[in-house]
Amino acid sequence: MQKGSWIWMDGEFVPWDEAKVHVLTHTLHYGLGVFEGIRCYKQADGRSAVFRLDAHNRRLFDSARILGLEVPFAEDELARVCVETVRRNGFEECYLRPLVFLGDGEMGLAARNRVRVSVAVWPWGAYLGEEGASLGITVKTSSFHRFHSNTLMSKAKTVGNYVNSILASYEARNAGCEEALMLDTEGFVAEGSGENVFIIRSGVVKTPGAHSILPGITRDTVMTLLAEMGHAVREERVTRDEIYIADEAFFTGTAAEIAPIREIDHRRVGSGGPGPLTREVQARYQAVVRGRDERHRDWLTPV
Ligand SMILES: *Cc1c(COP(=O)(O)O)cnc(C)c1O
Repeated sequence: MQKGSWIWMDGEFVPWDEAKVHVLTHTLHYGLGVFEGIRCYKQADGRSAVFRLDAHNRRLFDSARILGLEVPFAEDELARVCVETVRRNGFEECYLRPLVFLGDGEMGLAARNRVRVSVAVWPWGAYLGEEGASLGITVKTSSFHRFHSNTLMSKAKTVGNYVNSILASYEARNAGCEEALMLDTEGFVAEGSGENVFIIRSGVVKTPGAHSILPGITRDTVMTLLAEMGHAVREERVTRDEIYIADEAFFTGTAAEIAPIREIDHRRVGSGGPGPLTREVQARYQAVVRGRDERHRDWLTPV
């Protein structure tokens, strides 16, 4: 990974190599922490801008509230910190990782240690590869299910929830696939290990409802763009075999952006490459994040 120069921690900027924590940091042991993944893009005018910063920042605070963590900074303050961290590191394009975690002090589940906050940024290319974005990826339905909302609560982007995602991701990769598709506890399609999923058949676009998924901001962006293209997205239950017979399918996420699914469980999806609607959504998404779409300038925060 390409290092930056500065990481913001608990109210101040510290040199990248000095942004360290104690080994008895509570979150390291028990997983209670929340984070965000945000992207900053170089704009058509040559400047840089953070995409949908307010929505991500809002979700960070929502996630903290769900877990009962009190963030010791105001929401607008943290939004300014995100922008300042990008500026200080001088990246034209980068990924931003705000993290809220419980520090060291006491051990045990009842510990009420200091809530700490950090923001790191670094350049990060296409999460599922450039080739994945242009040709599509291979997917395996995971034997690990997405959890019930009374188990870990899917609307919080929780550090510990990612154990579930990593198990699914390892399993998919060990089986020679690039990403996992996870079902919910009832066996319906939920999402990828860190992406939401969309399917298209005969022009009808569907995505699973928000019961047992992390409601992605890219998911919301894509639903908005599809509606503008005349395709109101249906949020409803999706079965595994509906993906097998879909014309097109794709994942959405800040890191992965829009990743076409070309194969699932060793079955070709549609033509076996990105379909026409998927390509159009990808093109529109790139236009929006790079400030080439007048209608969505309010989603961009200049650095
Ligand atoms: C972060 C995440 C997503 C994608 O959310 P975006 O806001 O689009 O980046 C989807 N699923 C899970 C489990 C996630 O953690």
